Amino acid sequence: MRGFDGRRKQLLAGGGALLLCLVVAAALEHARAAGTGFGIAGAARQRSTTLTLPPALANVAVTEARRPGRPLVLIDPGHGGGDPGATGVSGAVREKDLTLMLARELRDRLAANGRVRVALTRDADASVPLDTRAAIARSLGADLFLSIHADSAANPLARGATVYSLSEVASDADAARFAAMQSVAAGAAGAAEGSVRALLADLAVRDEMNASADFAVRLLGKAPGRIALRPEPHQFAAFRVLRRAEAPAVLFEAGYLSNAEDEAMLQNPVVRRGMVSALAGAIETEMALAQTSR
Ligand SMILES: [Zn+2]
Repeated sequence: MRGFDGRRKQLLAGGGALLLCLVVAAALEHARAAGTGFGIAGAARQRSTTLTLPPALANVAVTEARRPGRPLVLIDPGHGGGDPGATGVSGAVREKDLTLMLARELRDRLAANGRVRVALTRDADASVPLDTRAAIARSLGADLFLSIHADSAANPLARGATVYSLSEVASDADAARFAAMQSVAAGAAGAAEGSVRALLADLAVRDEMNASADFAVRLLGKAPGRIALRPEPHQFAAFRVLRRAEAPAVLFEAGYLSNAEDEAMLQNPVVRRGMVSALAGAIETEMALAQTSR
């Protein structure tokens, strides 16, 4: 995380002014094209330029920490709306509902502790494209992106949680196939993003991968007694949504809905409370370390 922050500051110092110009130019172009919804407010000639987010991103509520200047954690409940994700073996549990429930419980825990700022990519049963989820992370300048899912497998005995961290190379064929599935659903890249932004993102992505892996290890360290893990629980995958978030990013698979015991466990509020404790503890430790390195 230290290395990541340092590198990002250097990158921003070198390319920040140009990047800001491009972003502002893109905003103006967008406003001209759309005629509405994307404007520049406030004293734009001075240092503080406030961009109003596009309408699709406008409904994200950020819960502030007790003190100002705390890192922002973006929690991403997988699926939603017309995309239910996996269905439990009982037929009664849908992944999209479970991920939203877990994400809200984690958000509420982090908000109660007040050590970090926290937001959700969706706080309703709504369809949010993967690229929009990543765009929300970039727009908010999220310091950590945590996507929450629940697994499903043909083997009904497969069970336990998995933590995927961002990587260029998938750790096995299953992870590669899963990442490819997620990426196809994401569609084409946003046209408003110029090549300079892409270059900065590429230079930063290695540090993001390291920070993602660090966070995954920290989370797994908090798991004993709280999260039932599958064998080899730390996996690597080149998820598009993680890569494009431009922040240390991890995808947490809470367990297998295709396994009857996991399905029942994930519906148990006591089990989820332990899971949320582990997630919140890992997040708060990671963010405290990130802050001391600033
Ligand atoms: Zn999923």
